[in-house]
Amino acid sequence: MVQEIICIVCPRGCHLKVDPENDYEVTGNSCPRGIPYGKAELKNPTRVVTSTVKIKGADLTRCPVKTDQAVPKAKMQEVMELINTITLEAPVRVGDVITKRILDTDANLVVCRDIS
Ligand code: SF4
Repeated sequence: MVQEIICIVCPRGCHLKVDPENDYEVTGNSCPRGIPYGKAELKNPTRVVTSTVKIKGADLTRCPVKTDQAVPKAKMQEVMELINTITLEAPVRVGDVITKRILDTDANLVVCRDIS
């Protein structure tokens, strides 16, 4: 059955139609970038995870973090649960790797803000 999704690759937000029974044919895209997005969204949806973790030894109590690439949507809950167990020690720098290949994905969890 054809599924309708909104493309989030750019702010235009095209309404894509993806047909899993026709080799995941994508229509409704205003540019070519919508095609791989539409196919991937049905075959293996992924997202970059952004959150915060606890930090000790700084004025702030939380430090913003994110995965440096998208992880499978099916693993997002587990990634969030793992993030909630982490406590950093200041100082930290943007790009510091907190966890390599988080939950056996290709993504690293990294720091998004300098905190001294
Ligand atoms: S299909 Fe192209 S123009 Fe439309 S939202 Fe996606 S990236 Fe933007």
